[in-house]
Amino acid sequence: MQKLVIASNNPGKLREFQFLLQPLGIEVLTQAQLGIEEAEEPHFTFIENALAKARHVSRLSGLPALADDSGICVTALGGAPGVFSARYAGNDPKSDQRNNEKLLMEMRGVAERRAHYYCVLALLHHADDPQPLIAEGEWHGEVAHEERGDGGFGYDPLFWLPELGKMSAELSRDEKHAISHRGKALKMLLEKLKVA
Ligand code: IMP
Repeated sequence: MQKLVIASNNPGKLREFQFLLQPLGIEVLTQAQLGIEEAEEPHFTFIENALAKARHVSRLSGLPALADDSGICVTALGGAPGVFSARYAGNDPKSDQRNNEKLLMEMRGVAERRAHYYCVLALLHHADDPQPLIAEGEWHGEVAHEERGDGGFGYDPLFWLPELGKMSAELSRDEKHAISHRGKALKMLLEKLKVA
């Protein structure tokens, strides 16, 4: 497979996928480059949303498509924001800054700070592919009490890694990918691709 469309308009995710896939000789296109609108994400599970996004882009582009559905699940909030992570503080416009402010507010006075990122990847070779490649990864940490760091994107300035003594926004790109939910999911996907 030489060409792959990433079914996302999230600049943070696109940067990460370009960084990870281009060295493998895979030409990474984005759905915006092809003029494809974002798909609806009507489902309550990550996997259903990932499949919906990949199918939408593969159908409209005629190319293999890779979708990532991901988010942060906070234990004390019953797994929220979960699939709603990107639009936690509302949809227009989606804003990482407002999402982080909302999470800090919800967690004010809460002692239980555990949280994890989850990422599921769905790769469809074509829109009607009955056997998509699916891979997933988790990354465990805590919700910090204030933001720090300017790397990464989304909730990274609030995602505290006790064993490293750092926020995920304070990691280099390589450090993040070695341990992140997306890095782990992509590693699993590439292993499946080799045998597919
Ligand atoms: P999706 O585009 O619907 O999958 O939403 C993903 C959202 O989850 C992003 O907009 C972020 O809010 C959050 N998220 C997923 N992965 C990461 C990450 O690696 N760092 C920070 N936030 C993330």
